[in-house]
Amino acid sequence: MTQPPDRLYLLYHELRPARSSYSYVVETGEFEKHVDLFLKLKLEDAREPSLWPEVTFDDGHISNFEFALPALQSRAIKASFFITVGWTGRRRGYMGWQELRALQQAGQRIGAHGWSHALLTHCSASGLHRELVDARLTLEDKLGTSITTMSLPGGRYNRRILTACQEAGYTQIFTSIPRAEPDPAGPTVGRLNIRGDMSLEWITKLLQPGSNLLSGLERQYQMKAAAKSLLGDRLYEKFWALLNRKETDTDIREAATSEDSAHHQ
Ligand SMILES: [Zn+2]
Repeated sequence: MTQPPDRLYLLYHELRPARSSYSYVVETGEFEKHVDLFLKLKLEDAREPSLWPEVTFDDGHISNFEFALPALQSRAIKASFFITVGWTGRRRGYMGWQELRALQQAGQRIGAHGWSHALLTHCSASGLHRELVDARLTLEDKLGTSITTMSLPGGRYNRRILTACQEAGYTQIFTSIPRAEPDPAGPTVGRLNIRGDMSLEWITKLLQPGSNLLSGLERQYQMKAAAKSLLGDRLYEKFWALLNRKETDTDIREAATSEDSAHHQ
């Protein structure tokens, strides 16, 4: 028996039919090419083991239901959708309970992504309770299933956060550290944040046997994490916003204040 191939968990946010300059929006047509590639790799994998991609989505954007679900279903791919519970059915552009139930009934996996998308490392004990416990109980109540996975807003965590997640009933925590994971994965699972400007060719290379692209990305991530802890989150966000604010339409500006700054790595 050969060992199962290592996994690379990929983190998507929003899909749009047209190209966007917003970093974490992926064009629907590009996403379809990605999942075609993943399907091909899985079918061919017995011959030449590559990194085996796993699809995840954070935030619960409506495009996950409108565009990602049909693309996944038609290729029999199961993904994990991490939901910002306080936005569900309340915030324009995000899924409601009806869409989440449809995802669930289609066999897709649902996990939590906090209540309000607050960075957990900035939360008090009562704030953490809301972000972790209230979020899990509400999902369980509305979907009638147990919720045991949590993805960290902005990927931020420390030992206190991991303990709080465990105490809140989560057995697997998804981070934004780009690294390969064994199968089955351990209690913390790294992921690669997929940006709209990452080409299919580059993703193909990344997954190839013996590629060293991923270790380079992990080093880069660790350096940015060090810069963040040196500058502090707020100052780092300001620098990042200055460098990356390209798109100026209102919904993006609105999203940028609460999400964009929390998502980038
Ligand atoms: Zn998020």
